[in-house]
Amino acid sequence: MKVMKVKDEGAGCGDRNCPVHGTLSTRGRAFEGVVVSDRMARTVTVEFERMHYVPKYERYERRTSRIHAHNPPCISAKAGDRVRIMECRRLSRTKSFVVIEKLG
Ligand SMILES: [Zn+2]
Repeated sequence: MKVMKVKDEGAGCGDRNCPVHGTLSTRGRAFEGVVVSDRMARTVTVEFERMHYVPKYERYERRTSRIHAHNPPCISAKAGDRVRIMECRRLSRTKSFVVIEKLG
């Protein structure tokens, strides 16, 4: 999944940590999840489910993970939105992901 940069320097949201308008590049892992908190400035908490294998029972169990992700002004995801997040460089002590798009 590649994030396309916008060429026009004048346009954009003015956030240098925006994957589309700024200089932030994405790499590594990507997840789809739901925003459960948008109360921080330019940061959202995204929750998603993953399957964890339990060898003893030879079955999977559902586990949920919560990740802090950077929320650029041009995306401005709100609680309840389904979003795609992607790994980037570490932006703060708890943030190393960025919201790259809202999903319908
Ligand atoms: Zn932007």
